[in-house]
Amino acid sequence: MNPVTAAVVLGVLGLIVGGFVAEVSVRLPRDENIVAAPSRRRCCGQRRRPWERVPVFGWLASRGRCARCQTRISRRYPLIELAASAIGVWAALWASGSGASVLMMAATAVLGWQLLLIAIVDGENFWLPDILTLPLIATGLVVAIATGWDVVLSHLIGAAAGFGGLRLVGWLYQAVRKRQGLGGGDPFLFAGAGAWVGWLGLPSVLLWACAVGLSLVFVLLVVRRSVGATEKLPFGVVLAVGIWLTWLYGPLGL
Ligand SMILES: [Zn+2]
Repeated sequence: MNPVTAAVVLGVLGLIVGGFVAEVSVRLPRDENIVAAPSRRRCCGQRRRPWERVPVFGWLASRGRCARCQTRISRRYPLIELAASAIGVWAALWASGSGASVLMMAATAVLGWQLLLIAIVDGENFWLPDILTLPLIATGLVVAIATGWDVVLSHLIGAAAGFGGLRLVGWLYQAVRKRQGLGGGDPFLFAGAGAWVGWLGLPSVLLWACAVGLSLVFVLLVVRRSVGATEKLPFGVVLAVGIWLTWLYGPLGL
């Protein structure tokens, strides 16, 4: 596929997926149905007009307010749509740069969109629900099978090692510090990492995650001048970035 065409297709698709990601990330923590239910305004319960549903542009055209009751609509909606669009374009550019197949390009976009949703839900709620991490593991293994049966084993080992490794770290931390350091969903997310990048990629995912985590702490130090030792960092967010970068650019040192 022509790289420009691919970037446009995945960029536009990303806007639409982003709208879904934004909506699901609001509904999941409230335990609302994420599949059914028509898209109604949260403010006044009115159905949205067709033009209001157009990603980003609907928000811009109504100047960030509900067209019916004038309630402000959070910036997170257009921002998430733009982020998902950027992920689609990134996947297309990566595929044309690395000579990856259309199938791998699509898989990359799907991975990026899953990670975006996971990062938003964990970043806002410190929660990694199984309903998001289990599909990440499943899609990773499906992509491994599509790549070839010879790589499936290393990805199965990756999923098992990722889960077992973080479970062990969680137990050790709890035994030593007497408080919970890792959320219950972290091992499942790391299993998803192993399913996508294979066990050889797991150290890279952690290294990237640490680098991103330390950068976050540094930014917090600059902005707020203090970071408590018991402060919670959304580990799922930095892990998601680590998975994305390792998938795109391969295990470090290999
Ligand atoms: Zn309204």
